[in-house]
Amino acid sequence: MFEGPEAHARRHVTQSRHGRYYSKVSDLVALTVAERARLDAVAARYRFRANAYYLSLIDWNDPHDPIRRIVIPSEEELSDWGSLDPSNEQAVTVARGVQHKYADTVLLLCNEVCGAYCRYCFRKRLFASENDEASNDISAGLDYIADHPEVTNVLLTGGDPLLMSTRRLVRILRALRTIEHVQIIRIGSKMPAFAPWRILDDAELQSALRLYSTSRKRVYLMTHFDHPRELTDLAIEGLDCFIRNGVICTNQCPLIRGVNDDARVLAELFRKLSFVGCPPYYLFQCRPTLGNEPYTVPIVRGWQLFKEAMHLGSGLAWRARFVMSHATGKLEIVTVDDDQIHLQYHRARDPELRGQTLCYRRDDRACWLDELEPVAGLGAPRFPPHLPVELQDGPA
Ligand code: SF4
Repeated sequence: MFEGPEAHARRHVTQSRHGRYYSKVSDLVALTVAERARLDAVAARYRFRANAYYLSLIDWNDPHDPIRRIVIPSEEELSDWGSLDPSNEQAVTVARGVQHKYADTVLLLCNEVCGAYCRYCFRKRLFASENDEASNDISAGLDYIADHPEVTNVLLTGGDPLLMSTRRLVRILRALRTIEHVQIIRIGSKMPAFAPWRILDDAELQSALRLYSTSRKRVYLMTHFDHPRELTDLAIEGLDCFIRNGVICTNQCPLIRGVNDDARVLAELFRKLSFVGCPPYYLFQCRPTLGNEPYTVPIVRGWQLFKEAMHLGSGLAWRARFVMSHATGKLEIVTVDDDQIHLQYHRARDPELRGQTLCYRRDDRACWLDELEPVAGLGAPRFPPHLPVELQDGPA
């Protein structure tokens, strides 16, 4: 991205004004004193963090503002619904910060901090001070990938990889590019929504992306925009900067109650994303993570919203798929009829399950595969054999 001195100076003013980080709810003067006191208790359990730019997108006069829902704690998070590792990532962890679930793909959890903390995060366990799952030292991951020629895809995740220093990130990109069989490097990040100047102000990062996203081996940015209001002019400028520096952009986000559980909002999000060159890839069913009860939408309702949004959409926005990242694999919710929910494995840990279609009894309250009853005679497995106690009654 090349810009004149004036634009550069203007951006620095923007960054210094918006770049201040808040990690205490008590510092949010837009909340009442009583709200701050109540929400402090929630933030003591699940960390709070946001910056001035992102907070400036909130309409503080609207208690149901969707941007507020994304980052400001809610007292309902204190319910005991869900578990800390709902997709059982521990089971596919092969070394500290290294996950290998599908043959061709390895995840490197290379950072445990994000630009802000989404209240519904399925990896909120990483932000607890006692957790050491993510690793700054990815040498074990690099050795593992080098030893596994079947790995063609590496996803940098966390936490947010774009919150690492440029020097560290470039070192990782360089090291991955020395491994011949690694074709695609994906960077999973919400920084384009939280702090668009991360790329705009960093010529070193831009030039590294140009170098390591080649015509034969691309770098992909998996963005995380949840709501069309996050697509500000600055955010769109940031996406443009990634694209102009050779990065392929695509968006994945969860379906979140009070944020994007509205067909028109989803359709607008998908449409705008496709217009700016970052078409939607996956819409995720919110995982039953501890603290996520207030953010979860039942599967059937989610599918209805998704279907309606697809009818309102057009062109590349149609590429979106509504999926569930289950411990056993990634399942698309294909259709729901009067009696049944039909799913299909896109990816599966067990090769036997790959591509398999599953049929479960329709349950309009169910929020996760483990809550569904297989339809007799259609061969769908029951997951897991023993339902966790906290899920037996489903959400309120
Ligand atoms: S950006 Fe992603 S990893 Fe970070 S808090 Fe949000 S959902 Fe979690």
